Amino acid sequence: MADSSLFPYRMRLPLVRVMMLAALLWTAGCATPSTAPSPSEPHSVVLISIDGLPANALQRGDTPHLDALAADGVRAAWMNPSYPVLTFPNHFTLVTGLRPDRHGIIHNSMRDESVGGFRVADKAAGADARWWQGEPIWNTAEKAGLRTAIWAWPGSAAPIDGRRPTRWVPYSPEISAADRADQVAGWMTEPVATRPRLAALYFERVDNVSHDRGPDAPETLAAIREVDAAVGRIVQALEAHGLRDTTDVVVVSDHGMAPVRPDQYIALEDMATIEQAEAVSTGQVIGFNPRAGHKADTERRLLGRHDHYTCWRKQDLPARWHYGTHPRVPAIVCQFDEGWNGLPAAQLRRAPEEKLNRGSHGYDNALPSMRAVFIAAGPSFRRGTTLPAFDNVDVYPLLAELLGLAPARNDGNAATFTPVLTPRAAPAH
Ligand SMILES: [Zn+2]
Repeated sequence: MADSSLFPYRMRLPLVRVMMLAALLWTAGCATPSTAPSPSEPHSVVLISIDGLPANALQRGDTPHLDALAADGVRAAWMNPSYPVLTFPNHFTLVTGLRPDRHGIIHNSMRDESVGGFRVADKAAGADARWWQGEPIWNTAEKAGLRTAIWAWPGSAAPIDGRRPTRWVPYSPEISAADRADQVAGWMTEPVATRPRLAALYFERVDNVSHDRGPDAPETLAAIREVDAAVGRIVQALEAHGLRDTTDVVVVSDHGMAPVRPDQYIALEDMATIEQAEAVSTGQVIGFNPRAGHKADTERRLLGRHDHYTCWRKQDLPARWHYGTHPRVPAIVCQFDEGWNGLPAAQLRRAPEEKLNRGSHGYDNALPSMRAVFIAAGPSFRRGTTLPAFDNVDVYPLLAELLGLAPARNDGNAATFTPVLTPRAAPAH
């Protein structure tokens, strides 16, 4: 009873104050309060990737800013990474909507007969447009005359199709999460004349620490809190400039992370000998190319089920992985079981046990540990809504729709988001 009698009284006072404040601002010609969208502000999108943040890392007390963002908008139960569950293939899938088998970044380590070798750490390869065979969202936007600014998203250093983002920052691991966030917040709060309509930001810290210490280690949780706080800095800057109502913020991760025991390694040479086949990659998804004259004996030795891994000819891989047609995919692909890794024998001999990874990804993309994060909030998204799981190829057509752009050909489905979009998100034309 007491509640019902208090209710009208409590409601009236703030309303009167709000009306008085609005009248004051109107007559004084002050800046509009942050809750009032200004029709002169263009709609913008910020895309943020937290490399290696597992879907189950949210709502455990380490991610207050991400949880607040999700409560203010949309959260997916989880997002399915594409196969193989590695960083570069999935980051390029997120911004192209193409499966790795179609966009050409088929692994973090790969070989192409005409281009040569690709390694994540090889900056020259990363900047070589011949590797990147899809249209990233920044190109879709730039082609339509929209400015973009990209902080080290994989692929943004290459002039794909002869184009670059209006602004792009090369990968600089020494720059802190907070400084990166402040740079992106600075871009998004510039005057309209120079402000990008799309910004993207990449954080690798959670992935790095999680590989070293394991996904549930205290050091990993500290890294998650640090990056969560950096996301909070961007949201707070938008709020302070009255831009929350015109800026959509989309936070994703590329994959989750599984714990790995230091004794669960297999030497590549114990899978196939150096004389039989060349191992094109190491880790959890090992590609082998049989050497001349060794196709039959390599296949006899590798194909099928082994302790802790399974190998297929590229054309026989499980259909649900949508993988194996690209010429860069090696002839035989071996997938390790969760928690196991393959490394060259020399590397295993060199590495003391404590230096071997305690966390890995790269496992079957159907495993719960590999599930990725998707959160989005802003004027295009309904508040407090949850989406069932979807594949990460759907993110590119969503970004195109948010920006009002016609997407390039892709493997995704923008209709995934129809239930959680507000009427302002115009359908793509
Ligand atoms: Zn990654």
